[in-house]
Amino acid sequence: MYIIMLGAPGSGKGTIGTEICKHYNLTHLATGDIFREEIKNQTELGKEAEKYISQGKLVPDEITIKLVEKQLDELDGAVLDGFPRTIEQASALDSYLNSKGKAITAVIDLNVPDEDLVVRTSSRVICSNKTCRAAYNTKFMPSKVEGVCDVCGSALIRRADDVPEIIRNRLKVYHEETEQLINYYREKELLEPIDINIYSETTREDTTAKTFNAIDKRIAE
Ligand code: AMP
Repeated sequence: MYIIMLGAPGSGKGTIGTEICKHYNLTHLATGDIFREEIKNQTELGKEAEKYISQGKLVPDEITIKLVEKQLDELDGAVLDGFPRTIEQASALDSYLNSKGKAITAVIDLNVPDEDLVVRTSSRVICSNKTCRAAYNTKFMPSKVEGVCDVCGSALIRRADDVPEIIRNRLKVYHEETEQLINYYREKELLEPIDINIYSETTREDTTAKTFNAIDKRIAE
């Protein structure tokens, strides 16, 4: 089973993607997490990716597609979080899955108003333990003990690109390049829109339940 998480930065792709992985026993493939790990280890790929990520720009398709295909070769099913982000990446994924006789089960589109996204992203903290990666929000979803992960006890950190100037650029890139994927997948009848609004207090549980319903409906088809 292949599930795609679509949505702007800060919409909750990582959080809901993790819940999907636990529930359906799938592997979480988050391109942003892979790039951050490569940057931390200062690999060639990390150094190259950092040039783009530090400006809120997308890493070039050629690099990203090769990286994802290599990871997918090792897996039988995944939750793709943060990939695809361009039409070129989406069509490369279609060709890849076709060539393996596999198909996308559902595309979960987490739909959050822009004004909420800036607030959510600028108060986000994530677990520093790469096998955990739990995400929290100091305003809306704090950890029980400040600065400490509820799940594994590691320190919570801020992402280097979760600062207002870079967030604004990431949102711009989302609207210019990634949002067109909503239509791309709607036309393929794979889109499952999930509306979220923090000010109307949509909880993580509401969103998770709606997402599981959407996936279960697809599985039953
Ligand atoms: P994320 O953790 O998904 O918000 O990704 C963080 C950053 O990594 C993005 O702002 C991009 O610079 C880069 N990135 C992640 N996924 C992709 C992708 N599919 N294509 C290009 N760049 C990406």
